[in-house]
Amino acid sequence: MNKNLKSFTLRQLGEIVEKPYNSIQIYRWIWKKGVDRIEEFSDISKRLRKKLIDEGYFVGNIGEKFRINSSDGSVKFVFEDGYEAVYMPEKNRNTVCVSSQLGCNLKCKFCATGLLGFRRNLMAWEIADQVLQISKKLNKKITNVVFMGMGEPLLNFENVKQAIRIMTSHIGLNIGAKHITISTSGIVPKIYELANFDRRVKLAISLHSAIEEKRIKIMPIAKAYSLREIKEALIYYLEKQRLRITIEYIHLKGFNDTDEDIYELRKFIRGIDCKINIIPYNKVDYFDWEAPNEEDVYNFYDKLKKILDNVVITIRWSKGRDIYGACGQLGYQLVHNAK
Ligand code: SF4
Repeated sequence: MNKNLKSFTLRQLGEIVEKPYNSIQIYRWIWKKGVDRIEEFSDISKRLRKKLIDEGYFVGNIGEKFRINSSDGSVKFVFEDGYEAVYMPEKNRNTVCVSSQLGCNLKCKFCATGLLGFRRNLMAWEIADQVLQISKKLNKKITNVVFMGMGEPLLNFENVKQAIRIMTSHIGLNIGAKHITISTSGIVPKIYELANFDRRVKLAISLHSAIEEKRIKIMPIAKAYSLREIKEALIYYLEKQRLRITIEYIHLKGFNDTDEDIYELRKFIRGIDCKINIIPYNKVDYFDWEAPNEEDVYNFYDKLKKILDNVVITIRWSKGRDIYGACGQLGYQLVHNAK
């Protein structure tokens, strides 16, 4: 049995200790104060602390293997067996991009993580601990979390939900649910589940093309869930959670940036409260796509603006490109070393 106290829910902790409020105290020490020595839980009786230690309980952290600082202020952390998280400071917020799996099975044709294949699901505490460790090590208050690191979060959804409960708890990391975004490639049944989840978290959908054949070409998972099914699920999510959806659109120069692509995108988003986030493709060796330059991206943006009247469109100039910490680049070093 794993006796790392971080791996227990509040309710499970309650079964280990004698009094319910002891579980709340322990949870607070671990997830709010970031203390990892049971001896230091000073508002808990010495007898209970000793009992926990004697029974083999401990507070384990995910181990940092190394970190790399980017010139833009972001920092990529590589943990344990190779999963990664990226800290991204901005003017009014500090965001951590977390991984939910080590590797990924979905093999999108622009993503280094997909090249790794699936290695394992991360446990709930390993996901939440990425935020806690980064906050502690950099001495920063983390305000936002995005599930845009390694893995498809909706394919490890039970652990992701539990991690979100830890992150949003006021006796935990205390991050507002609406400051957490789950990004999915479009796992339709799980989008319905997310719509009914007891935390109101934001949803981002990696669309990348509103033309079925093109989408299938770059995202094999698109064979399993059609654009029509995805749209229905998004509408259901909106009805339930009432939070504007982000449509993520990786800009692959010459592939998905024609007028036809934009007209199809316009059809797709009709009736969906959304904003569009253009992600200029970040170059990853092993793929032949051409990364658009700034002028290409702004031309595409202008065309979108013209055709998609009244829709909010943003460009995500990815942080951490120089450290392989940008979108689609996580896991690059693991892949590179394995070749
Ligand atoms: S883009 Fe996301 S879903 Fe696709 S292979 Fe990469 S990690 Fe997996």
